Amino acid sequence: MARTFFVGGNFKMNGSKESIKSIVEGLNKADLADNVEVVISPPALYLSWAVDHNKKAPLVQVAAQNAFDKLSGAFTGEISVQQIKDVGATWVILGHSERRTIIKESDEFVASKVKFALDNDVKVILCIGETLEERKSGVTLDVCSRQLDAVSKIVSDWSNIVVAYEPVWAIGTGLAATPDDAQETHKGIRDHLVKTIGQEQASQVRILYGGSVTGKNSSEFKDKVDVDGFLVGGASLKPEFINIINSRL
Ligand code: PGA
Repeated sequence: MARTFFVGGNFKMNGSKESIKSIVEGLNKADLADNVEVVISPPALYLSWAVDHNKKAPLVQVAAQNAFDKLSGAFTGEISVQQIKDVGATWVILGHSERRTIIKESDEFVASKVKFALDNDVKVILCIGETLEERKSGVTLDVCSRQLDAVSKIVSDWSNIVVAYEPVWAIGTGLAATPDDAQETHKGIRDHLVKTIGQEQASQVRILYGGSVTGKNSSEFKDKVDVDGFLVGGASLKPEFINIINSRL
């Protein structure tokens, strides 16, 4: 079975009611390829707002940018998967490098949140990727494998996980990985998954590339067989997001 092309838009801590409404309305009006899965991820405060304005479901879905590994209780400031579902969102981004580095989330904590989200029927965009120093010292695949292994240790069913390979040095820098470099790492990630979760599941898992993807460079990844889509930050706030969604047309 072919892997469905997937484009995620990570708004990060950006936007207002007005700007998020206008992005969603732009998607509502746009001619989107029908063989693509689109997931937009506004800040938690606007999840419900985005869901309510989205007229393109199920083609366009909404994701939270984080979720905790407990259902409810005394966890001030955390976001519950139950609440994510309650407002009609269906996905969550976990393990983004900004949370791993700035908020100091460990591989194990990320994995625990992945398991909890999946166990509660929220699908997961699992972000992995190396820093510039790690890349320079040639340990890119070791880092990605370590981040993946923390999850595969406690999660056996990967059918509701999409992996986003986002080299930290490419995020928000304008320096995207080249399509060849991305393909090489994606292939390495898939080969590693074959060993840990088995050939069948590994061949089905979508591996997205993220880091300075634009309307312009997205079509250059077209013939890269292990690049199954994109996780887009900055450009997902702009009209060029539509070009990225349609980059496989
Ligand atoms: P960017 O961010 O597209 O702005 O580089 C990607 C991401 O962090 O998901």
